[in-house]
Amino acid sequence: MPRLDDPVKFVRGVGPRVAELIAAKGIQTAEDLLYHLPFRYEDRQNPRSLDELKPGEMASVIAEVRGAMLLRTRRMPIFELTVGQGRHALKCLWFNGSYLQGKFQAGQTVALFGKVEPSRSTSNFKMIQPQFELLPDASDDAETRLLEVGRITPVYESLGGSRLASRWQRKVIFNLLENMRGAVPECLPQAMMQRLGLPDRETSLREVHFPPEGTPMAQLQAAATPAHRRLIFEELFFLELGLELKRRRMRERVGISFATTDKLREAIREVLPFHPTAAQKRTLAEIVADMRQPSPMRRLLQGDVGSGKTIVALQAMIVAMENGYQAALMAPTEILATQHYLAARKLLERSSRRYRIVLLTGSLDEDRKRANRGLINRGEAQLVIGTHALIEEKVEFDRLGLIVVDEQHRFGVLQRFKLMKKPNHAEPDMLVMTATPIPRTLALSLYGDLEISVLDELPPGRTPIVTRRVPGERAEEVWEFVRKQVAQGRQAYIVYPVIEGNRDDAPELDFAQDTDAPAPAPAAPLRKTVRKGKTADLFPDAQQETSSPAKSGLRSAVEMHEKLRTGPLAGLRVGLIHGRLDADDKEVIMRRFQRGEIDVLVATTVIEVGVDVPNATVMVVEHAERFGLAQLHQLRGRVGRGAARSYCILITGPRISPVGEERLNALVRTQDGFELAELDLAIRGPGEFFGTRQAGLPDFRVANLVRDRQLLELAKLEAARFAHPADGEEREAAGTEAERARVWARLKEAWQRRYGLVEAG
Ligand code: ADP
Ligand code: MG
Repeated sequence: MPRLDDPVKFVRGVGPRVAELIAAKGIQTAEDLLYHLPFRYEDRQNPRSLDELKPGEMASVIAEVRGAMLLRTRRMPIFELTVGQGRHALKCLWFNGSYLQGKFQAGQTVALFGKVEPSRSTSNFKMIQPQFELLPDASDDAETRLLEVGRITPVYESLGGSRLASRWQRKVIFNLLENMRGAVPECLPQAMMQRLGLPDRETSLREVHFPPEGTPMAQLQAAATPAHRRLIFEELFFLELGLELKRRRMRERVGISFATTDKLREAIREVLPFHPTAAQKRTLAEIVADMRQPSPMRRLLQGDVGSGKTIVALQAMIVAMENGYQAALMAPTEILATQHYLAARKLLERSSRRYRIVLLTGSLDEDRKRANRGLINRGEAQLVIGTHALIEEKVEFDRLGLIVVDEQHRFGVLQRFKLMKKPNHAEPDMLVMTATPIPRTLALSLYGDLEISVLDELPPGRTPIVTRRVPGERAEEVWEFVRKQVAQGRQAYIVYPVIEGNRDDAPELDFAQDTDAPAPAPAAPLRKTVRKGKTADLFPDAQQETSSPAKSGLRSAVEMHEKLRTGPLAGLRVGLIHGRLDADDKEVIMRRFQRGEIDVLVATTVIEVGVDVPNATVMVVEHAERFGLAQLHQLRGRVGRGAARSYCILITGPRISPVGEERLNALVRTQDGFELAELDLAIRGPGEFFGTRQAGLPDFRVANLVRDRQLLELAKLEAARFAHPADGEEREAAGTEAERARVWARLKEAWQRRYGLVEAG
């Protein structure tokens, strides 16, 4: 009898060659195959007969192939298929359909799924680009035939070409489930399933693949059947339980219990330049409470741009220093590290304590670096501010007590901080700061092993940033506005999506690549469903357009710098900064802008993170429709940092997709980063959100964080209960000893295999 952990090559109907192919899709065991769920279902219980179709509806039709031909129009080849039932006929059209030639033979049975459109020709209706599947004919075995028609049929993302598409998967998965009847081990405790009303694992697997007759289609398509919910819950439960375990292990580690005394409070009071906001007070209290604990702090401080994270972090660092420990602050760029260094020096000058502050970045000369490393190593530097150089230069601290990581766009460096403390020393506390508002659901899993503090209030006295959309034709007015602001002594940024030459491969486009290109005019856009209910637009023409930019008329920073400098902004001091400049040059330019020696800075998104230029009041973004929502929000955050009224002007191209529209409108409507983040998540899906795929967000098999928020919250709750049952009753509710042991065993196996996180530190 097959087992879930059998290598997939032993599954009937797979074999070694196919196993190798599908391994690339992450399918290695029988279990993986069973958790490869259909992304869609077709109601072929009662397929619609052709005479009852209504225009506008989505319909599933089973009919006989009557004829097929390729029409060569001037625009493109169109493949036309005619199917029929008795005297009724239906036409199906595929644009650029040459690839379908020879695919259909008259007399074959075909299942079609698509939108019913009125047709002018003899047939009553047509379908444009329907999904289709050739059905087995009478000569195929009855069992196979039964999987295809007369039931709710699962549709799968192909595991490799047409050979490993839905039909193949139905057969293999059906047989596997049959052969494992009664032998799929349960992995959740009975009591928990009962309490939550979730079906058992085997039933759930069977029913998501082969839904029983009469299952509501809407529920199926929304992955909301009890069977779906059970499998989604299962996945999220084990994720949350793993995170729970990680947190528990962290609590068991030996950290530093920092003391808070009146002396410390006085030290903080000395340097505070203003009254902290209520949110700053609250988050600091949360941080300090952690720091007092004997276990190491692992906390995330989230706060929108300008919410005042720095001063909160600085206070935490004073706590460490006043306790005789060193504190380190790591920034993502040299400019930011230097900015933090200067700001910290200025603030701490007010202190009677004479803290020694040291900067360590890659571009310092070797002698300086060596000297600073010495100061750090001997414990003479109490506050160390730097870049990645802190890790790369193998700096070893004497008594490192607190690490603050600022603007943590690139995640996954946490483990490496181990390098920075001396062996046999207590684990330092760690505070991660991010200006990226992360929706709670994502934060829960992305940073599930961190506690979270949110700075949800801006310091007083800020005037909201005025945000406007302007079509490209009116750019002249924008330049005029920029000139006026400069005449009033202000500064401006003008941001472009690419550096030079219309080329789309510039590193700055990391985020912009997934921005949806505008829809081409000709054919109705072809929506291709990818998987797990996520859809991606396939706009072949638009894709061509982005890759042959000559046509796209994309403006670049380098060219526009030249044009603006000599044209509309002539006479102003116009600078240029982008990612291809080396770090020193970037730094020089940024400093000149900071000192007010440059009026207008033409830039790419390199300016996205954190440099504070309070005198800059205008942020112009050209081709704004090409940027991600989060990115535009970050860019806008570069202005509005002083008392003067600030402006964000989004110049847009001629064609904007509906999603692009939605993004731009949201930006004009609100300045609330969390609201925008939620929207971004909803639009793009968790996979694309802030490039989280690279950032270590687990790649879920069945769950979808946007769709399954509620189940995530439930799973988190249940995981906490399971890990720490409060009393005898809860313990009972968490299952028998044997069940609990099984849960832990599965957790270990699942995490090691899928996330590799538990042991990671
Ligand atoms: P971010 O969260 O983006 O890192 P910063 O810490 O750089 O924000 O703070 C943004 C600006 O607001 C800084 O100029 C800072 O001095 C100022 N600021 C921070 N907190 C307050 C406060 N409570 N009252 C007045 N100004 C503040
Ligand atoms: Mg900051």
